[in-house]
Amino acid sequence: MTVSIVLFTSDLRLHDHPPLRAATAGGRQVVPLFVRDRGVTDAGFAVPNRLAFLADCLRDLDAGLRERGGRLVVRSGGVVEEVCALAAAAGADEVHMAADVSGYAQRRERRLRRALEADGRRLHVHDTVNQAVAPGAVAPAASDHFAVFTPYFRHWSTQRLRDPLGAPRAVSVPDGIAAGELPSRTGLPGVSPGAACGGETAARKQLTAWLRSGIAAYEDRHDDLSGDATSRLSPHLHFGTLSPVELAQRARKAGGPGAEAFVRQLAWRDFHRQVLAARPAAADADYRTRHDDWRSERTARADIEAWREGRTGYPVIDAAMRQLRHEGWMHNRGRLLTASFLTKTLYVDWRVGARHFLDLLVDGDLANNQLNWQWVAGTGTDTRPHRVLNPVAQGRRHDPDGAYVRRWVPELAGVAGAAVHEPWRLRGPDRAELGGYPDPIADLADGLARFRRARALPRDGDRA
Ligand code: FAD
Repeated sequence: MTVSIVLFTSDLRLHDHPPLRAATAGGRQVVPLFVRDRGVTDAGFAVPNRLAFLADCLRDLDAGLRERGGRLVVRSGGVVEEVCALAAAAGADEVHMAADVSGYAQRRERRLRRALEADGRRLHVHDTVNQAVAPGAVAPAASDHFAVFTPYFRHWSTQRLRDPLGAPRAVSVPDGIAAGELPSRTGLPGVSPGAACGGETAARKQLTAWLRSGIAAYEDRHDDLSGDATSRLSPHLHFGTLSPVELAQRARKAGGPGAEAFVRQLAWRDFHRQVLAARPAAADADYRTRHDDWRSERTARADIEAWREGRTGYPVIDAAMRQLRHEGWMHNRGRLLTASFLTKTLYVDWRVGARHFLDLLVDGDLANNQLNWQWVAGTGTDTRPHRVLNPVAQGRRHDPDGAYVRRWVPELAGVAGAAVHEPWRLRGPDRAELGGYPDPIADLADGLARFRRARALPRDGDRA
């Protein structure tokens, strides 16, 4: 009987998995393989929060395969070498995998194709596994990708998404292939205490609950910091324990303004993926340079440390940075505010902030993280690249009662209402009770003036 390999990467699920469907078609035997990729570790991408989530995902995937008569095969090392060795050992004539967008993933795919073809085997790459609409499926006439979201979204919305696939009923793995060792989250040092657990089983439960009782209010509540009313599905989308195609289809079926707003966010995810696929260098280099002479680890060390630790003296910034450290996740509004504060108020290089986020986020994702950082820094795809978010005004707007700040900044737990956003204005006993909470490390007006000078902009800023 002919044998295929399914190489799992960022698609750790059994439902709606085109590579698995294609590999098992006609009752073929299959080797479901995950390689703990040395290249990812060497790039500093294998951090505790994501390793823990990954371990959950692999265990759950293995359990799902075993229920169907199969099992997961795990290897460690170079992906190309491991896949080729396994293909030879199992007598596999083809390998199926999902397309991915980073420069590393694209190079890895090309090397794997060459190595397999040299041995007379075929590589099949499926492009709607990790994204609802594949990069390049929609493109403007004069370019290979969209650089602005609104026209991208117009085209994205007209695409017919494929129908989601069910999970396979049975998976037959050839005998004589050692399973290898599944990683475990137990004993992993440095995992955030409140970090989410992974796995397709947990993802599907969370999705059902979200569609039943979260999505309807999404449009009205997605910016409410303390309401925490977003889906929190981002780690599952990053690791592929949920399919973006299935998610978009089921959300559309739910209908209503909440679902529409949610589907638009899924399109943002695809938008950033098509930018990175076309311009892999944007993971590290300005997509559109503004010729910034950023402050760096060397020239702004104390400010950067205060930002990382959530001790800037701006409560909403500190709350969000502490949420990140505690949960390995941060609300989108918090991400926007903390990134704007670092790049525009402190005028620190966006790469410093992006690296810190990638060190902690369970959903840390090269396309979404780097291109959102660039969007905020004004070196990316924002059509208002010089806008600066004011943490006090934004705190009052998106955390009007101050509950988000009080949840994450215990020093301010005794300050009632929106006054918590400006602790420096407190007088008398209220001020004495601040429990060592720091004064602001930077003056907002000075920060704005420096930023405008640096970008040679007129004095009246683009504030929000
Ligand atoms: P929901 O609001 O429920 O949205 C549903 C899904 O849509 C998300 O899970 C995500 O996949 C997608 N989405 C939502 N907002 C965006 C957006 N602005 N851009 C692209 N996709 C979006 N998201 C990541 O997945 N990984 C990252 O590393 C990441 N880094 C970010 C860094 C900065 C500076 C900023 C401003 C945003 C970043 N985002 C990142 C985007 C966004 O903040 C998160 O996707 C979102 O907060 C995750 O929470 P959720 O699943 O509850 O989102």
